[in-house]
Amino acid sequence: MHGSLSLYIHIPFCQSKCHYCSFNSYSGMEWLIPQYVEALIKEIRGWDRGGTVDTMYVGGGTPTILDGQHLGTILEACGRAFVVAPDAEITIEANPGTISEPFLRQLRALGVNRLSLGVQSFDDRRLNELGRRHSASEALEAFEVARNAFNNVNIDLLYALPSQTVKEWQQALEKGLGLKPDHVSLYPLTIEEGTPLSQEIASGKVVRPDPDLAAEMFLLAEEMLGDYDHYEISNWARPGRRCQHNLTYWKNLPYLGFGAGAHSYFQCRRFSNLLSPVEYVQRLNEADSPIEQEEYIGEVLEMAETMILGLRLREGVNLVEFSNRFNRDAASVYGDEIDELVGLGLLLNDDSTICLTQRGRLLGNQVFLRFLP
Ligand code: SF4
Repeated sequence: MHGSLSLYIHIPFCQSKCHYCSFNSYSGMEWLIPQYVEALIKEIRGWDRGGTVDTMYVGGGTPTILDGQHLGTILEACGRAFVVAPDAEITIEANPGTISEPFLRQLRALGVNRLSLGVQSFDDRRLNELGRRHSASEALEAFEVARNAFNNVNIDLLYALPSQTVKEWQQALEKGLGLKPDHVSLYPLTIEEGTPLSQEIASGKVVRPDPDLAAEMFLLAEEMLGDYDHYEISNWARPGRRCQHNLTYWKNLPYLGFGAGAHSYFQCRRFSNLLSPVEYVQRLNEADSPIEQEEYIGEVLEMAETMILGLRLREGVNLVEFSNRFNRDAASVYGDEIDELVGLGLLLNDDSTICLTQRGRLLGNQVFLRFLP
């Protein structure tokens, strides 16, 4: 195996399920944790073929409901199966209410060097409506605990919540920025089918968020986070603090995902594991593969994905890198699409890079569609 590689480890357990959540996460299944950790280790060992890992990301779910010993065994298994670069970025996701300073120090000792805190809102009413378990003050406390143990902390915030006003969003941003996080991820709330929130909206109990208001909130965030590097549509970083793991995805580079429902992109294939943690454990116990879906990524699709993912970045797609990777110029493949989108004011093309304009960032999905094969 040559070149760099990223690893994602999925921990699908949560203490309860948030109302908007469509992630592969489950509450009331903590009893499975020891078996799940064993299964993860088996899956990781199955990839024992070397390769240098530059980033690792333990996500979920709520990874911090595992104890330090379980997390340590998982990271150790990765260290045995792969060569983890000494300066590798190793992130763990955490929710307020699941971390203490001694626990985080234990994680630091295991090599974790970045913490991503799921704050989502600083308003107790909104947190309650979202079905989050924590209060605003617990989120603030959790940040302080995180800050004492880590010098690289991200906070996640959601906007365009039902009935949320721009003023409220402004206050949330002020609170968030007051903490001086190293990295901020801001996502508009998406209403996923089958979630309790989508049912509340369908029944008229909750108001569907207004897309125009979401755009206004995004622009406000861009303005208020002016001191940060807005390096990806939904992500802002202090200098040197871009999330290297997520850059792997946006640059369309290889990664392996372990755990129930985890996705991988490796050697021209995208594949994903089955969703159910119970079945995942069973498969690994039977020495069977947990992979459920697999797609071959031919060159045409790889080029399209490289454009679509790369355009999410402020720098956009580097045209020299594109032609080195594919032995073809992006202009010769997507000339018509690029010209049209430049004409519509959605793309900028300076002959060395192609990137979204501010309007393009608001209408990203419409731009991305044009590159699909
Ligand atoms: S904590 Fe995250 S993964 Fe867990 S239920 Fe809530 S949104 Fe979903």
